[in-house]
Amino acid sequence: MGAEDEKSEFALDRREMLKTIGAAAASLAAGGLASADNADGKAAGGGRQDACVEHNPYGAPPGTGISMPPYYRPTPSVRNRNIYMPGTEPLGPDEMRIIFMGSQPWPPRISQAAECIMVELGSGKRCFFDFGPGCMRNIVANQVPVCEVDNIFLTHLHADHICELPYLWSFAPFAGRFKPIHIIGPSGRTPELGTRAMWEGMKKFLAWGTRAFEGTGPMPAMDSDNVTEFNFRDDGSVCYDSDGVKVIHWRRSHAMDGASAYRLDWNGLSFVFTGDGKPDWLTAGYGKGADVFVSEMAVDNINLWAMKQGLPSIFGALTLDIHHTTHYGFGYLANLVRPRLAMATHLSFDHELLNEMSAGVRTHYKGFFTYGIDNVVVNVTKDRIWIRESSLNDLAGVHSPDPKWMLQNMFDGKMPTEIPKPKYTIKDNQEQAVRDLEIDPALFTPKDQMRPWIREFPANAKPEDFLPQPAGVLRMPKT
Ligand SMILES: [Zn+2]
Ligand SMILES: [Zn+2]
Repeated sequence: MGAEDEKSEFALDRREMLKTIGAAAASLAAGGLASADNADGKAAGGGRQDACVEHNPYGAPPGTGISMPPYYRPTPSVRNRNIYMPGTEPLGPDEMRIIFMGSQPWPPRISQAAECIMVELGSGKRCFFDFGPGCMRNIVANQVPVCEVDNIFLTHLHADHICELPYLWSFAPFAGRFKPIHIIGPSGRTPELGTRAMWEGMKKFLAWGTRAFEGTGPMPAMDSDNVTEFNFRDDGSVCYDSDGVKVIHWRRSHAMDGASAYRLDWNGLSFVFTGDGKPDWLTAGYGKGADVFVSEMAVDNINLWAMKQGLPSIFGALTLDIHHTTHYGFGYLANLVRPRLAMATHLSFDHELLNEMSAGVRTHYKGFFTYGIDNVVVNVTKDRIWIRESSLNDLAGVHSPDPKWMLQNMFDGKMPTEIPKPKYTIKDNQEQAVRDLEIDPALFTPKDQMRPWIREFPANAKPEDFLPQPAGVLRMPKT
């Protein structure tokens, strides 16, 4: 925390960060950040009213607003204060960058994919929290190399949080991923309701496509798994501890046992993601004092919800009351957690409702707050936080890393001496009769464009065959 903050109502002793339920309850009992009572508003002689009692909780000077902290400033790595240009800003060594790759449970939208948050660390590590449908297109547009998508933490197994996994898992080898993707997620009430069972089921679902790819080229990542399933009941336990990154989890109340929240701590910075669930005391405790606190949020207006979704309002009430955090609940929780920045995600970013959503949050929480929707970028250091949006191209292709670097990276930093072989041949996967029905390429390919057709993975393929070649030249293995 910066020196300015120590004078403010939001001053936090970082040693207290992990105080749990008792601390959160005490904070509440002490009054928290009670909403400023409105002035009486009684007109006195000619409409004169009492002075406004609203104030900036951080003690920030005039002209800085009533909710913005003095540490809202660009971090050193920020090159353009207004937009984030993917691939142009090396992250500072002590900096964290958070990009929302999806933010909406339902329905899928042109501008909102389902939930996924990427956390990048100055050490070079990336972690992903949930992997909802549609997030890959944001990940690609933000120029994150697909072969580098790894360390995926699942808060729970609802479709809006996991259903881009089959797509990634199937196509990551095509993007050069030879290692299995590390998936971290909760157990369920029974083994078949846990993360590992979901993963096995996903592989069954993809059996046809997997075998087709395994008959085309080497797909070693599909042959082995890296799934960490933790006991969802072990509140506060570490589920990931690597390269200075420590992640703990705790239970969330979200319709089914197993739903979990996470807190990532690295280099004195912290990120909390609640996943889905009702406001709860565990989150108030484990989330305490986080640098960036991200919670799901749903506006508590079930009649409007029913009108928009075309469903009885009782379904809206059931959905909200069993599963989710209302905008009032978000404010209440954020006031207990007292983060440096509170962000709401997993919501329909409807412009006409933004004032209502913010008003609900402000019934309890007066601090730094914004929305975590697709392609919002947050840079965080110990004394600064800066928020922008990505500048994306609708037709952006994949960021292609240097193939040599990619091969080394996939094989523990060394160039491999041989390339793994495919598991099947085309003959294993296709009857000859169907291949006999193919039209001879000589009938449709210009003569000067005829090249040797590759119908089997070359038995003698070497790593150098996969290295950069002059444009347009097909490198064939030496025989
Ligand atoms: Zn959800
Ligand atoms: Zn859910």
